[in-house]
This record gives sequence, structure tokens and C-alpha cells, in this order.
Amino acid sequence: MPQASFRQRSFLSPEFADPACLVDGELPWLLFHFGHALFPAWLFDGWNGLGRRGRNAWPAHVLMAMLLLRWEEEGMSRRAAARRAKHHTQWRAAMSLQIGSDTPSERTLRRFEKFLRARDPKTGVPRHLLFHEHVVRLCLDAGVASKPIWATDSTPMWAYGAVFDTVELLGDGVRTLAMRWAKITGASMAAMSRRWNAAWIIAKSIKGAFSIEWSDENERANVVDALAQAAVHAVREIRRRLDEVDTEHRQWLLQRCAHVLRVVENDLETDKNGRLIIAERVAKDRLISLTDPMARHGRKTQSKTFDGFKLHLVGDVVSGLIASLTVTPGNVHDNVPAHRLFARAKRLHTAIAEILGDTAYGSAELRHTSRKDLGLKIIAPPPPVSVDEGRLSRADFKVDFEANDVTCPAGHQATSSYTTWSTAAQAHLPVFKWSVELCSTCPLRAQCRGEQKGGHRLILHSFEKELRAARETWADPATRQAYRARSQCERLVNQLVRHGARNARAWGIQAAHLQGHLIAARCNLGLLARRLAQERSQTIRAAA
Ligand code: SF4
Repeated sequence: MPQASFRQRSFLSPEFADPACLVDGELPWLLFHFGHALFPAWLFDGWNGLGRRGRNAWPAHVLMAMLLLRWEEEGMSRRAAARRAKHHTQWRAAMSLQIGSDTPSERTLRRFEKFLRARDPKTGVPRHLLFHEHVVRLCLDAGVASKPIWATDSTPMWAYGAVFDTVELLGDGVRTLAMRWAKITGASMAAMSRRWNAAWIIAKSIKGAFSIEWSDENERANVVDALAQAAVHAVREIRRRLDEVDTEHRQWLLQRCAHVLRVVENDLETDKNGRLIIAERVAKDRLISLTDPMARHGRKTQSKTFDGFKLHLVGDVVSGLIASLTVTPGNVHDNVPAHRLFARAKRLHTAIAEILGDTAYGSAELRHTSRKDLGLKIIAPPPPVSVDEGRLSRADFKVDFEANDVTCPAGHQATSSYTTWSTAAQAHLPVFKWSVELCSTCPLRAQCRGEQKGGHRLILHSFEKELRAARETWADPATRQAYRARSQCERLVNQLVRHGARNARAWGIQAAHLQGHLIAARCNLGLLARRLAQERSQTIRAAA
């Protein structure tokens, strides 16, 4: 448990000037009294202020305190945080700055965030993730999660970058390429518009530059084709003359060219007249923003959609401690990062034995890998089985995994078996067959086979054993009772959202990662502050 540090007070100390500015059990109080334990020097190895070379920069603990305070309320911009640090006594106290002294600028904060996003050279792990894990360890050591119930969930995080439709993506893509190319070559935008035969790149609005009836399919197709041709022409010219460009501009240009071509490839198709028109399908991993290229259309429910990223977390629903967190593009299924999240949480707290999750975490494969690799049991509803009324389901077939045999509802063992390759499962799956003679005379034929002819064929799931065990466990009332605690997982999500996790505050998924981890660390430190203040008041009462 962190120990409070002794501080010599001066007349310029914010705590001396305004003794009521620090309230026991709140984050600024924790930062003021325990900052030395919260921000260990090893975490900021390589920051300018600590190195031998280069000019002195702001100490890392001051900037770290400021970054955490930035998410103290519902989140604020870096500029607002820099302004608040100048004038707010409580902030100065938490950052260990005296009244009237200089405060870090917005630019310094931006540089420090970049430093935190980078990987630590010794561990290869992003520094913000190391900091979050350090905070979780402090909380666990202080007994914040004394009787934990671990659960997992996800929540949308709206992208910071502008989300466009196909016409705007193409138009804005070509326009930004032209602006950068004009800057590199010293040409004017008017000259660029003539050279690329795209007068609309100097218009205020891409759609406004075309005086057409947008509801007219033919006119709309002509505009989309013109934009696509201009995009392909622009990319071709830039790639041809790339040798003339310096490294910094080259990287940006190549990236933007790749994104523009991706829009052409994903969103367009050729019609019978040879024009490129908007396709009637939606590509699987469709790009929705040029400034936030990792953002994706996501779906919270069947009817609720969002644009941006998804925050995934594992936490204790009793105390509110967030043990691990990650950010993915909005279209990533919840069970994809789940194993990584569980592994991180388990590494920090080896006593985790069960994790509650919704149906998204109920897949047999995730159950299997979590149990095998991490010794974790997932309590989640198993995937639903869709069966027509009056028909038998695969659950009615009894599988003997030891004997590698299956008995059908009529009590007949399979007459033959073999394996088949499944592209979806990327595995060879066992297949069991019943002979035509057996099935054609069977009294259960109508329920089992319906209108189908021939003998019955049953393909087992690659994790059939896990799936059946999950269904059996789910039918147990004790499991249902334990699962009720999962609804409190909303508390974990709500505290992140309350401190600004709903909207990304900067471009890119790396910035979203940093934001998510800082908010989670802030929430965890809030719990630690309350715990330490409680212990302190108990000690004072006992001494009295
Ligand atoms: S139809 Fe065939 S597989 Fe189905 S219950 Fe009858 S014998 Fe068994």
C-alpha cells in the first residue's frame, strides 16, 4: 500500500493558501499525498526531463497528474486542461506546483501523450498500458477488490475524425491529396484543379460543387464515376512522381493514396455502361473516415449503430476496479480481444477463476481456450439453437466423446463416420451418418429429417464437448443465480462514460487506447483514494 509523503509547506503552497482545496478520498488528494508511489521513475525512463542529455522538460509526475485530472470530470481538451492548471488551486496542489509558478502548455501535454503511447524499450509494452497495470496492482495490494466478481463487457466510443459517405470520402480524399501535392510542388490549388481535371477540389463543398439532382440515379452515377476517375488519376500521378518527395510527405501521401483506393475498391462497382457507381453491397471492413482510418461502423444492438471504436473491459462489478481494457475498431466482435483481456487480468490477479459475460462471450472456442490456457471459467449464455417447432435438434443426439460415437433420438448408433474440412472453423470436423434404410423406416423421421430424403448426417462442432457442457451448466439454477451479478457490469461501463470515454478526443486508435487507459486509471485511482482515506480515518479514530 502506498505511504503518504512528508511535504514541507511554503507560503506559496496551494495547500497552505487554500487548506480546503484537497478533500480526503478524492483524486487530487491522492495525487498530492501519494504521487511518489503512483508514478514510479522506471515508468518514465527516457522522458527528456529525466535524461542526461537535452534540455530539462517538465517532470513526468507533474504531467501525469495533469493528464489524470484532465479526465476528472467528463473529460476536457488539452487546451482547457492547460488553462485549468494555470488558475485552479486544487489542480496546482495535485500537480505539486506552487501558486504563481509556470504550468505545462498544451504542446508539452501533447508531447507527453506521444511519449506514453510509445512502447517501453525494455518490455515492448505501450507505457500507458504499463501505467494502468501498475495502478491495478496498487489497488489490489490496498485491498480495493476484497470480494470480487469479475465480469466483461464492451461499449461504443465515437470516433473523433469526420465520418463521410462514399461521395465525400472520394471528394475529400482527392482534395486533401491535391492540397498536399500543391504544397510540395509549389503549385496553386487552381493549377492542381486544372491538371487533375477536378474543378470541385477548390469548391467549398464537394456535393455543392455538382449542380445535379442527387435523387436522379443516372446523374448521381456520373458524379461518382467522375470522382472515382479523378481519384485514380491523382493516385497514379503521385505514385509516378514519388521520388521527388521527402520521406515525411511520402509516408503521408502513400497512406492517403491507399485509403482513397480502398474506398474505390470497397464502395464501388462497374455498371453495364462501364461507369464506376456505388455498389449495392456493403464491404466487410468498410473505411468510413479518412482522418480516422481505423474507425468502423459498429452495432451495439440490432437497431443501434455507431461509428468509431469499441472499448472492451474486464473488471470487478463489486468494487468497480477495471483490471484490463483495450480498444478495437467498432466492427470487431466482442469475443475477438476477450482472450487477450482475460490473460492480462489473470496476470495481474491470479485468483480470478470465473468471468461473467453476455452471449457475445459465450462461444465454445473462447470457453475452451480460456479454460485451457488461463484456467478461467466463463459464465455466459451459450449460443442459442434455432429449431423449427416440432423438430428434433442436435441437442437430442447423445454424443459419447470417449467412444467417439453418437446415438440418435431413436436410439440408433451412427452407421458410419468420417471427417470433413470446414473453412469457417478452419478445422477437420467429425461427421456421423445413419444409413438410408434405418432412417427411411424410422418413426421419428418427420421430426428428424422433415422433407429431406436419404440418411441423416450430423456434423459436430469443433468444440462440441465444450458447447454441450456449457448448455448443461447454463440449465443449472445456481449458474443463473450467479449470472445475475453481470447486470452490474453497467456500473463499470458507466464510470468510464461519465469521465469522457464515449467520445474519442483525438484522431486514431492509438490515441483512443491512451484515452481509455487514462480514464480507467483515473477511475481505479478514485477507488484507491477512497480506500486510503477510509483507512486513515479509521487509524485516527482508533488513536483517539
Ligand atoms: S431419422 Fe435416422 S437419425 Fe433420425 S432419429 Fe430416425 S433413425 Fe435416427
